Amino acid sequence: MTTIIDGKAVSADVRARLAKEAAELKASGVTPGLAVVLVGEDSASKIYVGLKAKACEELGLYSEQHSLPEETTQQELIALVERLNNKPEIHGILVQLPLPGHLDEQAVIEAINPDKDVDAIHAKNVGAIMIGNYRFLPCTPAGVMELIASTGVEVKGKSCVVVGRSNIVGKPMAMLLLHAHGTVTICHSRTKDLAQVCRGADILVAAVGRAKIITADMVKPGALVIDVGMNRNEAGKLCGDVDFEGVSRVAQFITPVPGGVGPMTITMLMKNTITAARAAAGLL
Ligand code: NDP
Repeated sequence: MTTIIDGKAVSADVRARLAKEAAELKASGVTPGLAVVLVGEDSASKIYVGLKAKACEELGLYSEQHSLPEETTQQELIALVERLNNKPEIHGILVQLPLPGHLDEQAVIEAINPDKDVDAIHAKNVGAIMIGNYRFLPCTPAGVMELIASTGVEVKGKSCVVVGRSNIVGKPMAMLLLHAHGTVTICHSRTKDLAQVCRGADILVAAVGRAKIITADMVKPGALVIDVGMNRNEAGKLCGDVDFEGVSRVAQFITPVPGGVGPMTITMLMKNTITAARAAAGLL
């Protein structure tokens, strides 16, 4: 029988622990603070920023939101990041990606103080993850690892396939599975015979951004399937990369969209903000 992994329930468990940790920190005089920077009018980004502010409020974290107009210049954005770097009540800085095309995303990321880089995308943090000596894990892959752990399935020795190789999801996802002793294959748009590679996976993670790119015939019976994708189907409804209906007949575990990876990503952001606050207070 297929088990649908309940991202909301796993997330609620983790958030309950984080709320306790945040309360203890507050009692010792430290309120973890997160600044979220949004440039432009992207409607999906606005929703994510709102969800992050709400999660901070629920856990008793301080948060501030900086919404800048689409025509913001590189210098203006970097100046804001630097102000936030120097603001003691802010422990985590998240610049909502993607940025409008005229801005140099990588230069903005590199301007964030790595100790406040709660998205773990600064080169220093990426390198730390690579060598396995990290303070923060990137939010989405870290959330996926929690979801896998919640199933009781051990990654060690398993064949893991990650579809997608972005810096924010695919590559760090592969690295975390590797750290957990999986045998990892990364697929991308030039992969030959994606279906055949996917069929070899005990653990399959789809992070592409294309509705129904993973179909039932691409999944090994009994596999654990994690759907990171967030797309809109023909009817405008939110859906993942996996054909949920077909694949859930083959897989042993599967995440739904919505209600799978999404809630975990925000929870891991809260976790990283609390970690950053502890570190700033010398409590790590
Ligand atoms: P990117 O667009 O940066 O990367 C997509 C990846 O998919 C690329 O590596 C690309 O390959 C690969 N790809 C594209 N087409 C194919 C194909 N036909 N076959 C195999 N691989 C293909 O996206 P992100 O990594 O940022 O995000 C991926 C998805 O996850 C999106 O839907 C996004 O919205 C969602 N997301 C969800 C989050 C959540 O919290 N649930 C958080 C972050 C992202 P190539 O490198 O060759 O171009």
